[in-house]
Amino acid sequence: MSELRRLLKNAAVRGADYLEGLDVRSVAPDPAALDALASAFGDLPPDGTTAESVLEELDRLGSPATMGSAGGRYFGFVIGGSVPGALAANLLAGAWDQCAGMRIGSPGAAIIEDIACRWLLQLLRLPANAGVGLTTGATMANFVGLAAARHALLSRQGWSVERHGLYGAPEIEVIVGEQVHVSALKALGMLGLGSERVTRVPVDDQGRMLAEQCPPLNDRCLVLMQAGNVNTGAFDPAIAICEAAAQVGAWVHVDGAFGLWARATRQMDDLTHGLEQADSLAADAHKWLNVPYDCGVAVVRDAEALASAMAFHAPYLVHGENREPAQYTPEMSRRARGVEVFAALRQLGAKGVAELIERNCRQARHFAEGLRMREFEILNDVVLNQVLVAFGSDDETRSMVEALQRDGTFWAGGTTWKDRQAMRISVSSWRTTDEDIQRCLDAVDRVLTKNGCP
Ligand SMILES: *Cc1c(COP(=O)(O)O)cnc(C)c1O
Repeated sequence: MSELRRLLKNAAVRGADYLEGLDVRSVAPDPAALDALASAFGDLPPDGTTAESVLEELDRLGSPATMGSAGGRYFGFVIGGSVPGALAANLLAGAWDQCAGMRIGSPGAAIIEDIACRWLLQLLRLPANAGVGLTTGATMANFVGLAAARHALLSRQGWSVERHGLYGAPEIEVIVGEQVHVSALKALGMLGLGSERVTRVPVDDQGRMLAEQCPPLNDRCLVLMQAGNVNTGAFDPAIAICEAAAQVGAWVHVDGAFGLWARATRQMDDLTHGLEQADSLAADAHKWLNVPYDCGVAVVRDAEALASAMAFHAPYLVHGENREPAQYTPEMSRRARGVEVFAALRQLGAKGVAELIERNCRQARHFAEGLRMREFEILNDVVLNQVLVAFGSDDETRSMVEALQRDGTFWAGGTTWKDRQAMRISVSSWRTTDEDIQRCLDAVDRVLTKNGCP
C-alpha cells in the first residue's frame, strides 16, 4: 500500500472510531482533555514531522477535546450532525480539492452545484428560476439576500449601490421583528444599512412579528422576517407580511436558518405557507440538512438582482452562458460545498429529508412532554424542534443546566426567554433516536436525585 493510501485509510478509520465512540463518552469534552491540548504545543517547530504522526497527534489530543455535536445527544444552539453520505462526500471532495468559485476552475464541481441548487429549490418548494448561492452559513446567506435587496430597492430608484456606494443614496427603511437574529443585524451592519437603523416591530408571546403593527410599507422598504425563532422555533406570519409587501413593491427577506427546512414536509404548512412569496431567503444546510460545516443557502427570487449584487468583472475571467458559482456569493475562491448538499439530498431523497424534519420535531415534543411530566415548565409552544424549559427559579435553572452539562449524557445551553432563565433544547440531528431522548430524560432524573434540586 502506498503511504498516501495508508494515511487516508487511517484517517477514515479514526473518523469512524470517533463517531462510534460518541455513544459512550460525555457529550461535552473533559476539561482535562482541553488542558492537555492547550499545553501540548509550544512555538512553531522549525522541523516538520510525518503526516502519519500529525494525524495520530490530532486524534489523540484533538478528538477528546471536541464537543460531541456529531452524535445524537447534542442539543445546543441549532447544530445538526452530518448524514453519512454527506460526510463521505466531504472526505472525497477534500481529496478533489477543487476551487469551486469559477466554472473554468472546476467544471465538475460547478455541475454538481447546479444539481444541488436545483434540488434545493425543489425540496423547499421555491420558484425553479430563483437564484441560489451557497455560502459559509446563514449569516452570509442573510448578507447575500440583503445585498440583493439593497441592489433591487436602490436600482429601482435609479441608484447603483455597487458602483456608487451608499453616500448620497436614497434611503431604505429596514423593518425587523423585535426578536430578529443577531446575525441578520450583523449582516445589515456589514452592508452599510446599519444594525441599529431599523424599525422594530413588536412580537407576540412566541416571538412572532405582529404584522398589524408593521409600519406602512412602500417600495423603499425592506422587511426582514424570520422562519424559526432561535428560542421558540416560531415563524413570523409570512402570508400577511408578503402580501402587504407585494402590494407596494417592498422587499421581504426571510431568515430561515433552520426553520426553512420545515418546507421539506407538508406537515407544517401552517407555519411555512407563504414563504414561497418572499423575495429572498436564507437557510443553513449545516444545520438541519445535516451536511458538514460549513454551508449556508441564499435564495433570491429575482436571480438577476442576486447576480447584479455579487457581480465582478476581470478580463481574464470570462463568463459563459452557464451559472458561475462566484456570481452568487461574496467569495471567489472557495471549497466545493455543493458536493455535500448534493450527497445529503441524494442519500435522503425528498422523502428522507421530510422524515428527518418530522422525526426531530416529534422527538422535541416527546422531550417536552417528558419534562412536563416531571413538573417542569415548558416556556414555548413546541411547534418545531425547539424546547425551552425552566427547572424552577432562575438560580435553579442555571444550576440544573450546569449539572446536566457536567453529567454529559446530553448537552444543551442556557438562554433567557421573557426575562426568565431557561434551558434551550434544539433537536436537529439525523443521529438522534427516540432512545436518545429517553436517555436524556433518565439523566434529568439522575441529576435531580443526585443534586436534590430544585
Ligand atoms: C444559526 C442562525 C443564524 C446564523 O447562521 P450561521 O450559520 O451561524 O452563520 C442566523 N439566523 C438564525 C435564525 C439562526 O438560527
